Amino acid sequence: MADRQTGGALHDEGCAWALKRANVIDFYSRLAEANPDPRTELEFENTYQLLVAVVLSAQSTDVGVNKATRALFAQVKNPAEMVALGKTKLINYIKTIGLYNTKAKNVIALSEILIRDYDGVPPNNQMALEALPGVGRKTANVVRNTAWGEETFAVDTHIFRVGNRTGLARGKTPLAVEKALDKATPDPFRRDAHHWLILHGRYVCRARTPECWRCLVVDLCAFNDKIFRFKSGKGV
Ligand code: SF4
Repeated sequence: MADRQTGGALHDEGCAWALKRANVIDFYSRLAEANPDPRTELEFENTYQLLVAVVLSAQSTDVGVNKATRALFAQVKNPAEMVALGKTKLINYIKTIGLYNTKAKNVIALSEILIRDYDGVPPNNQMALEALPGVGRKTANVVRNTAWGEETFAVDTHIFRVGNRTGLARGKTPLAVEKALDKATPDPFRRDAHHWLILHGRYVCRARTPECWRCLVVDLCAFNDKIFRFKSGKGV
């Protein structure tokens, strides 16, 4: 936390170099200017549906989850309706999503707990969310950031990659990158950093072919293997 406020360079063990404070601000400012109001691509109408959608999205794409949940969420708005629906009928809605059987079991179980312990309303509490079936640290971070605007840094595969490539937040594990992001990210970017970074990783800083030729932060990025030309549908 102190380093966020003193303006010093940001260092992680083992990195060749990391972004300096001024560059971090520049980095986020450019992403913010391009997308002033970043949102999750998951579709939902309330916090309960958001929680379910994030649980279903583990190791699945948001597009795939949305396809399944459009019909489901038209019928099911709260935990009581989910429990009434039951696991077998829930599976009929989500069977196109990977690990649907386990996810269905978890969604029913977490819905029962929400009814029993939280009057059917997901709690804005990291530990309480993580105690729900199918909800890990990343899922709880996503829900708290998206539903309540909490300054959490949920590190998925995209953010892990962007943080390490750019030098913004390096670490060998998602938790290390999360802590590095928390340390590196200044106000007023903390609330939306998660969405800017995930969208940047999903659409520009792609895993196999980062599209550096059109990247807004190319001059700030520490990645050594940038790709600068676009040819036949692929960068080279
Ligand atoms: S310059 Fe390339 S590697 Fe760096 S953030 Fe942009 S797309 Fe990713």
